[in-house]
Amino acid sequence: MSDSMQVGRSDFDRVMVPNYAPVDMIPVRGEGSRLWDQQGRDYIDLAGGIAVNALGHAHPALIEALTEQAGKLWHVSNVLTNEPALRLACKLVEATFADKVFFANSGAEANEAAFKLARRWAHETTGPEKHEIIACTNSFHGRTLFTVSVGGQPKYSQGFGPALAGISHVPYNDIAALEQQISPRTCAVVVEPVQGEGGVIPAAPGYLEAVRALCDKHGALLIFDEVQSGMGRTGKLFAYMHSAVQPDILTSAKSLGGGFPISAMLTTDRLASHFGVGTHGSTYGGNPLGCAVAERVLDIVNTPAVLAGVERRHQLLAEGLLAIAEDLPVFASVRGRGLLMGAVLSEPWKGQARQVQEAAQQEGLLVLQAGPDVMRLAPSLIIPEADIQEALVRLRRALERLVK
Ligand SMILES: *Cc1c(COP(=O)(O)O)cnc(C)c1O
Repeated sequence: MSDSMQVGRSDFDRVMVPNYAPVDMIPVRGEGSRLWDQQGRDYIDLAGGIAVNALGHAHPALIEALTEQAGKLWHVSNVLTNEPALRLACKLVEATFADKVFFANSGAEANEAAFKLARRWAHETTGPEKHEIIACTNSFHGRTLFTVSVGGQPKYSQGFGPALAGISHVPYNDIAALEQQISPRTCAVVVEPVQGEGGVIPAAPGYLEAVRALCDKHGALLIFDEVQSGMGRTGKLFAYMHSAVQPDILTSAKSLGGGFPISAMLTTDRLASHFGVGTHGSTYGGNPLGCAVAERVLDIVNTPAVLAGVERRHQLLAEGLLAIAEDLPVFASVRGRGLLMGAVLSEPWKGQARQVQEAAQQEGLLVLQAGPDVMRLAPSLIIPEADIQEALVRLRRALERLVK
């Protein structure tokens, strides 16, 4: 089959499993925060591949890291180790609370490893009765059976039963509810420092500290799912760094590879010892290509210039969105942290985030939704400020048309 074979959006419905509903245009090329479709039309990308393209599209340093590694070594399996994986692990350990790293390929797999490690640790140090995992209502942790079960959105686990046992949910930012639920049988509490899919909701001041204290009181592990909030997204390398709290386990994916599939579970020496030889694994996890790219992403993102730039871009976007909210009745409020932002739809527009997304696309602007009531933005951390201004012009135009 040659690459001159013509394909279009209708082929999706013909040959792809219908679990997605992609929009009608097909992007074929990207550069920075711009995408071009099959017809050569340009789009400003405030979606960032759902908080993945941290350095935009086709960043020269990432192309260099990938192609340089591609000419050397792609895959060796975990029977051998490799230099890019070791370098990336050293840098992640150096930059965070962690002593040890496990690599996988997606956010769900990093979380799967985190939940399995928590249960294994509890099993070995206390006994099988200490297996309960507490997560938050509306949280999202991935699409494997374990991670949809821990996730707090029942629509993702319904119809895939029998359900996994020993998992419960409490409302996010509700410390009293967690206090009610947590017990010596709890092995782990898992929290997103900013709930992403659940509507772009940051942890309330003091919430993460209070969760940490309850975990310590009951001998439970604290897991931060930073798959979406991590790698500079909120203006710190990881969102937990805005607080005084350290987790026992942290998961990273999405922006970690800047678009190349890779994820990591970070943890302490004490816990890592419970994942002995043969207890867990991944064929592709820690492969040289992904690790070489992620190492370069980390080198670039974990610098004062890039992290401070996230804050500046947040301000620009927030001001622009609030100005639009003043003139048009679509947004009620703006929330989020750094470049993970949500514009909450006003009462009359509730449920219409998909329509907002489609209207924006028609004006050459890509945005996301976070549930039916929130327009979500997760652009490149280095999006040019001129692209932000142009994006706001296009968004205003889209909303004006929608309101008419
Ligand atoms: C996207 C996401 C995941 C799942 O990541 P995949 O790479 O799709 O498996 C898990 N947790 C959070 C917080 C996410 O945003």
